[in-house]
Amino acid sequence: LQSESEEDAPRGTVGCVALDQAGRLAAATSTGGSPRTRAGRIGDAPIVGAGFFADGAAAASSTGWGESILTVQLAARTCAGVGAGFDPGACAGRELDVMNERVRWRNEMASTGGVIVLGADGRGGWGFTTSRMARGGWAQGHHPWSAVDPFSEA
Ligand code: ASP
Repeated sequence: LQSESEEDAPRGTVGCVALDQAGRLAAATSTGGSPRTRAGRIGDAPIVGAGFFADGAAAASSTGWGESILTVQLAARTCAGVGAGFDPGACAGRELDVMNERVRWRNEMASTGGVIVLGADGRGGWGFTTSRMARGGWAQGHHPWSAVDPFSEA
C-alpha cells in the first residue's frame, strides 16, 4: 500500500468493553479483517493485549491495522495507562499516537486505528486516528449514546 484511503482500510470491526455490577471488566473484539493481507493471516483481533485486553483496572478493544496494533500491544498499553490513573480518553489518544510514531511499515503504510476503553471506576473513553469510528455507550441510569464522526456525539 502507498497510503491508506477510506476505501482501502480495515473495516467491519465490532468491539465492546463492559463493567458489570460486581465490578468485573470484560473486552471483546470481532473483525472483518484488513484488506490486501494473506489468506490465513491472524491479525490482532484474537490476540490478548493487542485486539483486546481486560484486567482489574480497565478493559480495551482495538481496531485498525493489525500488524501495528500487535507491535505496540495497543489494548494492553491503553489499559495500563488507565490503571495508572490517567483519563481513559487521553490514554486512548496517547497510545494511538505512540503507535503512529513508532510503527513504520514498507511504503509508509499508516499505523492508524482506534481504541475504546473502560476503567474500573466506570469512566470510559475512546480515541481514533482514522477519519471516523462508529462508537456508542450506555451506563445504568443514563441514555445510550452513539456517534460516528470525530466531534459528534448524540
Ligand atoms: N485490526 C483488524 C485486522 O488488522 C482490522 C479491524 O478489525 O480493524 O485484522
